[in-house]
Amino acid sequence: MEHLDTMIGPFSFMEWAIYLVLFGLALQTYTAIKRKMAAEQSTSSLIKSKCLGCGWSGKVSKHHRSCPRCGNVITRLK
Ligand SMILES: [Zn+2]
Repeated sequence: MEHLDTMIGPFSFMEWAIYLVLFGLALQTYTAIKRKMAAEQSTSSLIKSKCLGCGWSGKVSKHHRSCPRCGNVITRLK
């Protein structure tokens, strides 16, 4: 196992391997968190609402708060 101590640049082969694994894990964690945040954002942008015009109730986007049935203003339900 002597070749594992071979110096490549400032680190030995073993250190490079460890850093590569750590980097891979960090990258994986980062993408997982990013994906989770994106998923949470897309679901949290939907709010439970009720239409003032026709009484329709359901989930609409925060950014598009009009009734899908009649186009009237929608109120937020809690
Ligand atoms: Zn409506």
